Amino acid sequence: MSTALREVETVSRERKRRTRSRTISRLNPLVVSTLQPHEYDLDPACISLVCPSCRTWVPIRVAATERATAKLVPHHTEPAGTEDPVRCPGSHRLVVINVDRETWRHRLEEGVAETNGRRSDRVVRKPQAKPAPAVMQILAGTVDDKTARKLDEAHVRGCSICSVRDDKGRTLRATDVASRCADGRRLAQLAAHTKRLAPARRKAQLDREDWNDRWAWGMRLLHEQQWDQHAKKVGDADLQRVDDALAALIQTLNPHKADAPQLTDWERADLMSAITLLATRQEQLKRRRR
Ligand SMILES: [Zn+2]
Ligand SMILES: [Zn+2]
Repeated sequence: MSTALREVETVSRERKRRTRSRTISRLNPLVVSTLQPHEYDLDPACISLVCPSCRTWVPIRVAATERATAKLVPHHTEPAGTEDPVRCPGSHRLVVINVDRETWRHRLEEGVAETNGRRSDRVVRKPQAKPAPAVMQILAGTVDDKTARKLDEAHVRGCSICSVRDDKGRTLRATDVASRCADGRRLAQLAAHTKRLAPARRKAQLDREDWNDRWAWGMRLLHEQQWDQHAKKVGDADLQRVDDALAALIQTLNPHKADAPQLTDWERADLMSAITLLATRQEQLKRRRR
């Protein structure tokens, strides 16, 4: 094959690949600030929005490097399992994320804290006890899906705007999110958000426990090794244990999974000194064996 021909082939192959990965919907880019606050979720763990074409929640794929290339993932308009599903025209639609994530989160948290503290005048409610622990949880960003749902339900029961009632005044159900009061909308938003986040949250909890186990194990080993420091006999098993502990601690410092628990500065400093100590110990053991 001539060099020229090979070059042409390479170029066309590259072009084809690029076209496929850059599929874009024919619809105009969707600007996040034009959506209702309850129609998008900027939490990186579940970044998504309500697709205007099909009115379902659709994840946004955000390229790590370029925010400008955020897109709705391809999706179908029918429920999963439908034969010959039709692809929604909103698939691959460009998304302009022009709302700051911190601003969004602040509004979510602040709104809910207000909901439980202040009462708005236009809403007739039965007096309720302030759910203080829940507010603390919300402020700490630790409210879970169950708590959020309860807060939302309690609001609906007490709010004439947010509830559909029968003629005896009994609450039948919540009104649509769009026609709820400002507080109600925020609570619905929080409930939906935490629900979407729940699987990731549970997984993070498991990872955290796993990490804690590994950490405790590494520390115990380190302390044993320090107690052992003056022992005269050093076996292969000792060296192997130090090697393993060192590998585990280094792995903890450099987790391969993107969603691994983030270390605090203190944990990191602790870990660094543990690694240094273990590395020194490893050196000593190796030298002694020679
Ligand atoms: Zn859609
Ligand atoms: Zn309400």
